[in-house]
Amino acid sequence: ASIVLSRIGLAGLAVMGQNLALNIAEKGFPISVYNRTASKVDETIHRAHNEGQFPLSGHYTPRDFVLSIQRPRSVIILVKAGAPVDQTIAALSEHMEAGDCIIDGGNEWYQNTERRIHEVNEKGILYLGMGVSGGEEGARHGPSLMPGGSFEAYNNIKDILQKVAAQVEDGPCVTYIGEGGSGNFVKMVHNGIEYGDMQLISEAYDVLKNVGGLSNAELAEIFTEWNKGELESFLIEITSDIFRVKDDHGEGELVDKILDKTGMKGTGKWTVQQAAELSVAAPTIAASLDCRYLSGLKEERESAAEVLKEAGLKEEVGSVKSGIDKKRLIDDVRQALIWKGGCIIRAVFLDRIKKAYQRNPNLASLVVDPEFAREMVQRQAAWRRVVGLAISAGISTPGMCASLAYFDTYRRARLPANLVQAQRDLFGTYL
Ligand code: NAP
Repeated sequence: ASIVLSRIGLAGLAVMGQNLALNIAEKGFPISVYNRTASKVDETIHRAHNEGQFPLSGHYTPRDFVLSIQRPRSVIILVKAGAPVDQTIAALSEHMEAGDCIIDGGNEWYQNTERRIHEVNEKGILYLGMGVSGGEEGARHGPSLMPGGSFEAYNNIKDILQKVAAQVEDGPCVTYIGEGGSGNFVKMVHNGIEYGDMQLISEAYDVLKNVGGLSNAELAEIFTEWNKGELESFLIEITSDIFRVKDDHGEGELVDKILDKTGMKGTGKWTVQQAAELSVAAPTIAASLDCRYLSGLKEERESAAEVLKEAGLKEEVGSVKSGIDKKRLIDDVRQALIWKGGCIIRAVFLDRIKKAYQRNPNLASLVVDPEFAREMVQRQAAWRRVVGLAISAGISTPGMCASLAYFDTYRRARLPANLVQAQRDLFGTYL
């Protein structure tokens, strides 16, 4: 009997792998799947059957798995970044041949990818490091894909990637990023930007709630409204939904019961480290990273709130609140928020950034693009009012402040850096 080989393989069937495998199979590409722990293979087969008789076959050993794929073989791996990726490559590559390709779809440190490219090259195996964005839903129904590494390997699976990626007006959300670990690098920066976006949205929420006195119902309404205009994006949309979720176990909305500690997996930290390494200022992302660290110090913050309760400027907050023009505050916050540079997946704002770089591919900074420059000048007053109000109310807005400080520093032809330089010059004289 002739054995029908699969077009592609996927190893690592946790949340991301399972959903991406089903997406690929649903688009009609026969796929083989494998996972170190067998139960996840069974689970995936079960889902493929239930969700639509997709062409998916499960395998329980690296050898069976690899041999079930047609040559040149393309194998996507979606396991925990770091050592698990090396272990998975070792197990699979033993059965692979020259011309076959490994595609790491995890959030991997780009230098690990570059090391692996050289390691597998010794056997003639090709390699791609491919950022996958969009979480579980994206993986299942259309992620944004950022493949980098071997162009030949990319061409082998280009048709699959273009079919499984999210589809927008100007085509599928996938493009060959470049050589080496560039796909992982772009994904890392994407995640860093996401840190910034989320921080700025949380600050907008903080100001509206604690300075403006808005209820969750009002917040839900405002974010829904914002999502219809220039702020339209995935994050604004899910934020409006969050304010509506009721607490099943008590009064009010769930958002108020969620512990104010933010987790993280490392890509934001990597972005800040890389920015520093390349001598690039990334103040908004750095501020969001700091905020995640500070959020983790819940107990320390609780004690500090007790010790420093006088610092709350209560009277001033009161006067700020009572004199507040709610409508204007909401509009100011919307204008301040628009400065966020892009968004996780779907965001109309990204198109405008793209157009700015199409107008001038050598643009030194987005803020000097004529269209952006004009709007920033028009809107800066609202931005300053929001930050000023938050400062006098004792509400921290580190992301908005860092962005504003960047803007005010970048747009000044002369800075007090001369004094720092003079001090540096004098060190030499005194030593
Ligand atoms: P995960 O929790 O990061 O990893 C679990 C998977 O890794 C399981 O299949 C597990 O196999 C396997 N694994 C762990 N150690 C292993 C080892 N030593 N040898 C072989 N396999 C090993 O899974 P995930 O959340 O689906 O994420 C996968 C990758 O995608 C990660 O790099 C993640 O950062 C990235 N990513 C995740 C998201 C998301 O929303 N979750 C979004 C974008 C990108 P067993 O079942 O045998 O334990």
